[in-house]
Amino acid sequence: MYEDILVPTDGSDGASRALDEAVDLAAAFDATVHSLYVVDVSAVGPETGAVDLVESFEQMGEDTTDAAVTRARDAGVDAVGSVATGRPHRSILDYVEENDIDLVVMGTHGRTGLERYLLGSVTEKVVRTAEVPVLTVRAGEDETEE
Ligand code: ATP
Ligand code: MN
Repeated sequence: MYEDILVPTDGSDGASRALDEAVDLAAAFDATVHSLYVVDVSAVGPETGAVDLVESFEQMGEDTTDAAVTRARDAGVDAVGSVATGRPHRSILDYVEENDIDLVVMGTHGRTGLERYLLGSVTEKVVRTAEVPVLTVRAGEDETEE
């Protein structure tokens, strides 16, 4: 049913929990997990030092996706990692198209979101516009539910 599952990651706890879900699903369906980190160009201005900043985001992307691939492979699941540059939701949707992704699994929240929002802005845009199913995973079991 699912062959290629995309887990976009920003290195947050939410993305990490999403990875756990994706690895379990991939094991059940014998699917491949794709870990994608997007260097958010809109967060990096044109000022001096921007090149260094982009490089350090790229490095963080490599480290984060490498760790995700290792976690998936340790669970016996095929996995590939990749780092893109752009606006996160746009790059995620492009990746879905280009790699025949059939399920996206992502956190309800990421690194910067405030708890009062139902969904982070990247997840909200992907949920609204993706042509494949999107599974959202809430981080932090210690948050009180109402
Ligand atoms: P904000 O809207 O302020 O960014 P947030 O950081 O809490 O709030 P999102 O950015 O939407 O919320 O993060 C939710 C999920 O989206 C993350 O758990 C991750 O799966 C994915 N995500 C967010 N940013 C990126 C990124 N740069 N690259 C890849 N995936 C991302
Ligand atoms: Mn975010």
